[in-house]
Amino acid sequence: MPNCIPGTSIEIVNSNCPKGPFQAALFDFDGTISLLRQSWQDVMIPMMIDILQQTGTSESSEQLHEIVENFVMKLNGKQTIYQMMQLAEEVQTRGAAPLEPIDYKNQYHDLLWKEVSQRIEQIKQGQQTAANMCVPQVHVAIECLIERGLVPYLASGTDLKYVQDEAQLLQVTDYFGTHIYAALDDYKRFSKQMIIQKIIQETGVPGAQIIGFGDGYVEIEEIHKVGGLAIGVASNEETREGINTWKRTRLIDAGADLIMADYREFPTLLNWLNF
Ligand SMILES: [Mg+2]
Repeated sequence: MPNCIPGTSIEIVNSNCPKGPFQAALFDFDGTISLLRQSWQDVMIPMMIDILQQTGTSESSEQLHEIVENFVMKLNGKQTIYQMMQLAEEVQTRGAAPLEPIDYKNQYHDLLWKEVSQRIEQIKQGQQTAANMCVPQVHVAIECLIERGLVPYLASGTDLKYVQDEAQLLQVTDYFGTHIYAALDDYKRFSKQMIIQKIIQETGVPGAQIIGFGDGYVEIEEIHKVGGLAIGVASNEETREGINTWKRTRLIDAGADLIMADYREFPTLLNWLNF
């Protein structure tokens, strides 16, 4: 049994984690707030395996699966273009001529959009609620943080125009106001590290007073680096219940202080942090 916050299933990975006071909270979007893009991995990974097989490589699809899954998940949290840059490199390594990363990214987007657009339509038609397309109780959690004086920030590796639309649909835009940051065409102008540095420099809030929430490697690693409290959200995107053990392992590797499945036990977490 993992060591948990009493009365909860929130796992304490690092009992010496920063316990506040906190002034800012940084949220990843997909998998941490939104489930609109759930199972994106099941679109990206097979697409990449398919592309690598076309190089004529002698590797089995199982071998390719392992290679692809590893780099895709290691880069999870960065902008999508980085995963596609790695794909192009993998194609080249296998002696074939790769497309431009942006072409791979567009191909991936078209495939994923078939599924995402259906979920968006369901909400717009009233067949599905916004809450059901979110990690459970995330709205209440963000409201609790705002009530306690924290300023929330959103930073996503998905393209900004989609994040803005999807945040609106899921009714979280008002929480973040102008603090919604995401991938730009000029990919060098955005990174989660840049957003954290921006918070520190523009507001004077020290790194140790930032809480970060994320289901990806990158945001957890970056929050950990500045000495903030890194909360790994090992959300199970399909069932909205319990921990995704695969994410849990990677979040712990990245430096997560705490691991939780969703925000259902958030009030107890806040008590534990002496909020
Ligand atoms: Mg994510």
